[in-house]
Amino acid sequence: MTSNTNNRPFSKIIIAGAGPSGLLLALLLAQHGIPTIVLEAWSWLDTRLRAVQYGVPATRLFRRAGLLEDFRDASIPKFPTICWRRSADGEKLAEIDMSLVEGEEDRMTVLALGEIIQIMYKHCIDPKKSRGLIDIRFNHRVTGTGQDPDKAWVDVEIGKEDEEKKHERLDADYVIGCDGAGSAVRKSLFGHEWPGQTFGCRFMVQNVYYDGFEKHGWEGGNYMVDNDHWGLIARRGHGGLWRVTYGDPVPGLTDEEYLARRPWHFKNMLPGNPDPDQYRIEHNNIYNIHNRCVDTFKVGRILLAADAAHICNPMGGYGCMTACLDVGGLADCFIGYYDGLAGEEILDTYATVRREIFLKYVDARSVKNLDRVAKSDPWTVADTDPFFGIVKELNKDPEEMKRFLMKVSSIEHDFTRYYDKPSGTNGAAKGAAEGIPRDSGVEGIEAEVALHTEAV
Ligand SMILES: Cc1cc2nc3c(=O)[nH]c(=O)nc-3n(C[C@H](O)[C@H](O)[C@H](O)COP(=O)(O)OP(=O)(O)OC[C@H]3O[C@@H](n4cnc5c(N)ncnc54)[C@H](O)[C@@H]3O)c2cc1C
Repeated sequence: MTSNTNNRPFSKIIIAGAGPSGLLLALLLAQHGIPTIVLEAWSWLDTRLRAVQYGVPATRLFRRAGLLEDFRDASIPKFPTICWRRSADGEKLAEIDMSLVEGEEDRMTVLALGEIIQIMYKHCIDPKKSRGLIDIRFNHRVTGTGQDPDKAWVDVEIGKEDEEKKHERLDADYVIGCDGAGSAVRKSLFGHEWPGQTFGCRFMVQNVYYDGFEKHGWEGGNYMVDNDHWGLIARRGHGGLWRVTYGDPVPGLTDEEYLARRPWHFKNMLPGNPDPDQYRIEHNNIYNIHNRCVDTFKVGRILLAADAAHICNPMGGYGCMTACLDVGGLADCFIGYYDGLAGEEILDTYATVRREIFLKYVDARSVKNLDRVAKSDPWTVADTDPFFGIVKELNKDPEEMKRFLMKVSSIEHDFTRYYDKPSGTNGAAKGAAEGIPRDSGVEGIEAEVALHTEAV
């Protein structure tokens, strides 16, 4: 393999998974002239209820990839506030005024993941946006991987769910696993076990229409603090669509049993303590939640990114944001290598740095976010949690709060710093990291607060 037409060090990359990470990676590479094949197991793009908000670092990448304008057009126009409320009485414990940054291009993005992926897909298949360099193949389920010194390959099962399947082996210079939490690429490297924890609750996610939110003056995102009734209630779409997510702390029930408990949770979380005939639920999904990370993101010519490499609980919105930062970094590494600005070892740097960032910041802080809403004492946490203390201090100075909301985060990392040859020699690398500021290197409480805030 490693066919070097045009004196490039590689020519073919296979990406497993047409989720947000796979599509964004393909788009960023295509915009720099690097072709990819994206293999998607299903006939469709995943529209389950999952992510809806993506912090400033992800927004910067969306802008760089030329996606942001379409995301903003599809999004609700305003997301004026994020607050933490006690479920027992709806009392606000802390609040961030998001209207301070409503004029900032790179403010948090709010849009359901199903719509994000659809827009990404449209850009990937638009020859003007992707130069015709992305070959997306649906009904191509990766079942295994392999490699030798010259190439890597995937074994693929081809066909719709109800069809007889064909089996093929496709090879490439590199294989990237962007195939999500159940990653077949990861399992082919490490088996079914991966280090970390699964939480002993079920995570219930539903789209809800309920006029009581507006009647009671609720807006934006509302983190609900309670040991039994914790979660996030947020405005999600046009026409009064809200998303209610909560963790049911009782383990081991059937889906039907969890659903039967939903009216009790809603009565205790929603303003006005409504009964089921007062709201309409349109769609729901039920999840187990985990925080896990693989031992390495790279084995020879096979790399992992995003949920295939690491997952975290959804409290705080780190998952997709981190997924985007992984593939933004990986794209820069491939671009630098492709253009002769870096050696192949830059791919090892990607693997080391992004894993360290996950373990040091994302893993730890997403658990803190979960503990804040689910385990703290709702009657004292406003005074005892240092994060709430800092939010209250920042609220005294709107300029300081604004600076804080937009700052560069320690989960961002600019891999173009490892390029060791002058850029512009062939033009392709120019602008590789446009929109990604140098990471701050800020440590300690300041960085911690930045992460909490980006994550809300
Ligand atoms: C309830 C919930 C709420 C969340 N909220 C947020 C939030 O607000 N903000 C945020 O940033 N994150 C959030 N997340 C996390 C976020 O949804 C994930 O981190 C993100 O979807 C990961 O993207 P991915 O591309 O790595 O994987 P996925 O989105 O899982 O995409 C993987 C793709 O690979 C395909 N695939 C799987 N196996 C194979 C195979 N063998 N062969 C080929 N293709 C395959 C799948 O069909 C899918 O299309 C939330 C998650 C949940 C569960």
